[in-house]
Amino acid sequence: SLVSVREMIEDVIDRFSFQARQRSIELTLDLPDYLPTIELDRDQIDQVLDNLISNAIKYTGDQGKVRVIARLKQNRLFIEVEDTGIGIPKKHLSRLFERFYRVDKARSRELGGTGLGLAIAHEIIKAHHGEIEVESEVGKGTKVRFFIPITTTKED
Ligand code: ATP
Ligand code: MG
Repeated sequence: SLVSVREMIEDVIDRFSFQARQRSIELTLDLPDYLPTIELDRDQIDQVLDNLISNAIKYTGDQGKVRVIARLKQNRLFIEVEDTGIGIPKKHLSRLFERFYRVDKARSRELGGTGLGLAIAHEIIKAHHGEIEVESEVGKGTKVRFFIPITTTKED
């Protein structure tokens, strides 16, 4: 269906604002002036955004920062979720999109989750002919970004 990208991103931020505020995490949006309305499987992209933002909040300490950035480049929509959290050691980066893969079993047990979120996100983005990647530095934070090609757009 036709989805306003801006509305979709603002809605997902609204869903996490309470949780972020409770932990004094600054949750901000960086959106360009123009974002299109596009043909999109909103439920699926919502699921990707939900997972990336919930990870960013989950693996970031109180008073940290989480930022969601969207950009249009040619006929692609780029979305990046950036956090100032604990980060991911280099040796784990290549396996993050595997089902049930979790970096630190003890820590992950404490924080909850099954290790499926990123695997599902990866599958959804692949099905949309896009790509998803992670960049991270231990103790500094993590950036997860994906793009999807934009097919049908409508002026808005
Ligand atoms: P689920 O998403 O199924 O609830 P999960 O969040 O543990 O569980 P994934 O979303 O697949 O699983 O993430 C896999 C692992 O990658 C996590 O367990 C965590 O160790 C690491 N990870 C993911 N995102 C971040 C992040 N933003 N900062 C630090 N570590 C992360
Ligand atoms: Mg997750």
